[in-house]
Amino acid sequence: MSQNAIEIRGLQKTYAAGRGAPAKQALKGVDLEIPAGSVFGLLGPNGAGKSTLINILAGLVVKTAGQVTIWGFDQDVNPRQSRASIGVMPQELNLDPFFTPRAALEVQAGLYGVPKSQRRSDEILRLVGLEDKAEAYARTLSGGMRRRLLLAKALVHQPHVLVLDEPTAGVDIELRQMLWENVRRLNQQGMTVILTTHYLEEAEEMCDEIAIINFGEVVARDSTANLLGRLDSKTMIIHPEDEAATLPEAPGIEVETRPDGSLALSYQSRETPAEAVLEAVRGAGIRIRDVKTEQADLQDVFLELTRSR
Ligand code: ADP
Ligand code: MG
Repeated sequence: MSQNAIEIRGLQKTYAAGRGAPAKQALKGVDLEIPAGSVFGLLGPNGAGKSTLINILAGLVVKTAGQVTIWGFDQDVNPRQSRASIGVMPQELNLDPFFTPRAALEVQAGLYGVPKSQRRSDEILRLVGLEDKAEAYARTLSGGMRRRLLLAKALVHQPHVLVLDEPTAGVDIELRQMLWENVRRLNQQGMTVILTTHYLEEAEEMCDEIAIINFGEVVARDSTANLLGRLDSKTMIIHPEDEAATLPEAPGIEVETRPDGSLALSYQSRETPAEAVLEAVRGAGIRIRDVKTEQADLQDVFLELTRSR
């Protein structure tokens, strides 16, 4: 096994034209390495190409070009081994309505060639909190329970890599907590976890590393800490007593007058202490009536990086 759980090179996907829709290039040459053992976040707005990428990893969508290696196995050279290395919880709730959760897990295990003696259906059902529903028909399960079952199905073959596509979109708090507890536990046990989300807080809380994808391209890829570090910029908003005659000036500070007469002073908090900003303001003879600060968060990087170009 290499250091990377997943290696993606030059990955492209164009969906053919059909039913009046033109051909769509959903991935435009993605290069991405996902370290083994990490919780990796794939972030991007709707339509960015996240599910396309995930579904190519899962073997559900056929790529147009590029190379995908999962747990050291090239998808084209060792399709069986690469598929056995990954478990995917899809975004869509596609379950056979006539299977009970236990039967669904047994069928899934059969598909992956897990011998009967090595199946752990009951254990997995317990893990996702569905032990009471083991014999219920899938069509009687609530949306949240179906999602739990999809997670359970992704785990039957004990994959090295677990992929969750928008696992918490539209789920209640209880299910969200269950998902995150499971993700943390599985990761601690050594599983690499990849999740897509458009909830930035979630990525911030859960992920060691993040790639931001937009219009089929990776526009940023860094540790969560570094991405947040890039957001070191702060803005101090000063409301002066009187209209400012001269603007404050100092190295590392950018000043802008806002329509309401306030001054917005932007600075990097690591390089420029707030005191230096205030000094510059006083130095310009401005008396401060009110002051507040605005701080960037992941949302800001995200918006900046995904702004339509
Ligand atoms: P995301 O998961 O980030 O929301 P998707 O990968 O689902 O993005 O979609 C990326 C782009 O590809 C979108 O423009 C979407 O409309 C298009 N797309 C996705 N699936 C198909 C498909 N089966 N046929 C045609 N176009 C598709
Ligand atoms: Mg999607």
